[in-house]
Amino acid sequence: MDERLALLRQHVREVPDFPKAGILFRDITPLLASPRAFGLAIELLAERLRPQRLDHLVAIESRGFLLGGPLALALGVPLQLVRKAGKLPWKTDAVSYALEYGESTLELHQDALGAGGRVAIVDDVLATGGTAAAAVTLVQRQGGQVVEVAFLIELVALGGRRQLGATPCRALLAL
Ligand code: AMP
Repeated sequence: MDERLALLRQHVREVPDFPKAGILFRDITPLLASPRAFGLAIELLAERLRPQRLDHLVAIESRGFLLGGPLALALGVPLQLVRKAGKLPWKTDAVSYALEYGESTLELHQDALGAGGRVAIVDDVLATGGTAAAAVTLVQRQGGQVVEVAFLIELVALGGRRQLGATPCRALLAL
């Protein structure tokens, strides 16, 4: 593994049985607490996304926001937020999707993407893929072309990228 990716890997803590039994939670707080590792993660994501000539970066609540802010600034592109239902103050588009138990809804401001354009979506972890797929749907409904969904970590065994179909998807770390 590339030395830089190894450094990132060392800053992801594995917490068994959180938030419930059977889940191995990938905790990125050690990475956020290391300016070197956090800076490197943003640099690597920016390196990959720069050639995409993005019109917008869309970050998913809530850990995606922590990456989206510095990444949007590094790329010099407008940042938009996908949030859970009821959190965004302006008029929104909404998409509901299935969770393991029940359902959740994500929203995006109706005027977020203007004329559409080239959009990347960012989040910390790709697990089952339901959240990212809902964010892709929201962007596409507003006429945006999702050129990439970018993650710090992909939990490969959960097969989340299948939910994204043909939408390009990359993670810095495959765990
Ligand atoms: P999913 O819709 O299953 O891909 O899960 C999406 C969200 O849940 C992501 O935004 C992650 O932040 C979080 N998540 C799911 N599983 C894990 C895990 N094992 N470790 C850390 N975060 C997770």
